Formats: sequence, C-alpha cells, structure tokens
Amino acid sequence: MAEPGYLAVFGHEEIRERFAQAASLGRLPQSLLLHGPRGVGKQRLALWTAAALNCGSESDRPCGTCRACRLSARLEHPDINWFFPLPRPKRASGAQQLRQKLEDLRAAALEERRANPLYLDEEEGATGIYVAAVHTMRSLAQKSPAMGPAKVLIVGRAEALTPGLGSPEAANALLKLLEEPPADTTLILTSDVPGALLPTIRSRVQAVRIPPLPDERIAVFLAAEADIPEAEARRLASRSGGSIGRALELRNEEQEYLRESAAEIVQALLDGRPAAQLAAAHRFRSFGARGAFGRTLSEVRGLLRDLLAASAGATASDPDSVATLSGASPPDFNRLVRLLDAVEEARELADRNVNPQLIVANLTRLGTGHLTLAPVPPPPGTGGA
Ligand SMILES: [Zn+2]
Repeated sequence: MAEPGYLAVFGHEEIRERFAQAASLGRLPQSLLLHGPRGVGKQRLALWTAAALNCGSESDRPCGTCRACRLSARLEHPDINWFFPLPRPKRASGAQQLRQKLEDLRAAALEERRANPLYLDEEEGATGIYVAAVHTMRSLAQKSPAMGPAKVLIVGRAEALTPGLGSPEAANALLKLLEEPPADTTLILTSDVPGALLPTIRSRVQAVRIPPLPDERIAVFLAAEADIPEAEARRLASRSGGSIGRALELRNEEQEYLRESAAEIVQALLDGRPAAQLAAAHRFRSFGARGAFGRTLSEVRGLLRDLLAASAGATASDPDSVATLSGASPPDFNRLVRLLDAVEEARELADRNVNPQLIVANLTRLGTGHLTLAPVPPPPGTGGA
C-alpha cells in the first residue's frame, strides 16, 4: 500500500495493475496520453506511474516505502517533473528569463500542492503551457537522471500546449521529444479534452482512457479523506459525474454559497425589520429543502459568535465578515447574545428533526421585538421532538 501524499491514488485498480506490470517489464510506452473526465485522477495516476518506474522494490511497485517512493509521494523526486498550465509571467525580458520565471511559478505551485494534496485545479485568469516550458522539458529530457532509473515528464492538462506553441521550433521540439524520447525518459500527458490536442501530438502518443469512478467509491473517498458526513458525501458523489475533483469543487461552491447566505441571514436578523425577517426566513427555507439547514444554522452561529467576540474586543476568526456585518454601527452586545441563544436552540431543534419552517419562524420572530423564543410545538407527522 502506497504511503499517503501523491502516491495515494483512489480507484483505477485495473489500469494501475496494467501500468505497474508494464513498468516492471520495461514495456510501458514512453509517450502516454491519459485522457478521461476532469478530476478523475489522471495526473495522480501519472505521478503514481512515474513512481512505479523509479521504485527500488522488487515487487509491488510503487512500494510506497523506498526512498524513491517517499520522494515521489512528496513531489520531491528529482527525476519526476510535473508540468501544468501556469499564468504567463509578467515582465520577462528574453527567453531565458521567461523560462526561469515559469520555473519559479511551477515551484511555487508545487509547494502549494504539497501542502494540500486535495488541491483543486482552479483556473484563474489565462494560463498555458508555454514554449519556454517546452524548452525546459527538452533540456530535462537531455540531462542524465539525478537518481534514476527513469526520468518522467508529466504534462497535466496538455491541451494547454496548443495555443502556446506559436513557434514551429517549439512544436518541433515537443514532437521530437514525444516521438523519440531519450531511452531513460517517459512522457505522460493528461487531458480531459484530448480532441483539443494537435493531431501531430495525438498521433505520437499511446492513448489510455481513464474512466469515471463509480458514485459509491467517490462517496467513500469523500467521507474518509475529506471528512465529509456520509449523507452529504453520497449526495455530492451522485452529482459528480464520477469525478472526485468535481465532487470537491461542488462542495466548495456550496460552502461558498452557504457562507454568503449565512451572512445575509445574520444581516436580516440584526436588521430586525419585518421585511428583512421575511427575507431571512426565505433564505433559510431554501436550505431546508436542500438538506443543508443544519449547516446553515452552524454557519450563522459562527458569524454571530464572531460578532460577539468583536463587540467584546476579542479577535474574530473571520474579521472580514465581521467588518462587513457590523457596518457603521456595531450590533448591540445583548442583542447578539439573545440571537446566539436562539440560534443554538434552533440548532438543537434541527438536530431533533423539527420542521425547518417552524424553527425559522421562531428564530426570525426574535428580531421583531418578541425577544423570547416561544416553545416550539412538535411538528405534525414527525413524532414530536
Ligand atoms: Zn518504492
């Protein structure tokens, strides 16, 4: 079993077995293209394969414990080079400087990925795999391995190679590399849009399709590795299209939406006017329907606690939200305490499966002058609370 970090590939057992066997027999194609849906683990599989090629163990490669494997798992193996689209460096004068700046950016990105193995490949602004990076790849391929036996160049999201390859010289350099890599060098390209690759590139690589993962396996992964409650993990998995990356992305989007909504709810609760109360109730109800009611309440509680901390002169965990919510006149301390109590109580009721509409009706009544939370009758049909 591989040690954690970047050797922990989830699923794709058949392909891994095939690759590991081919690697140990020296029969793995030297130019590979792994294609399949985004976020199914193609780049991870490429890193795993690179480790299998360099592992010092006699069997079960990558063993996960030898020196080469440990370095691979930490993205520190000197002969495994991982390329991916990067933003175009600013103010680079000359080819040499551009190459250096790109290498610095790549090193920084790798550092981030080391720190967060569940990183999401989010595109911000224009990125590409530029001519300068191809030159770096070529010179790496020409060097002797630092540790050996195999140098591996991984090119993630290789479709980004096309727009950058403005010069025929760079295109030729890459094509030559793909066609006749040095004997000790393997190139592994990955893409979720293989059709976007230049036909001249596609014709020079051995393509292997990496299929989506079954939903139930994704749910298991989310629960075990990302600490996501089971029911939520299953729901995310069912919408992920077989992609762990997509499932994590969905979760981030939902959390973002939830945080924004919680801020709006807090604002409305503090505002106290009936229209605002109604708006808060409405926002809450949409989460009741989506099954995220409890999480919304937790988020609201977190914001109220932050406001309370700030009004008592302590440091808030999210100072930005506090500043936004406090506005010109910071909320009254006693009012916050009462709201926080009410939200705590609402959370307890939510845990006991009380109808969200009733809980919200009670909670939003608070701001309109009725400052005590009325006892909530057991909702019809739930067996009571
Ligand atoms: Zn090993």
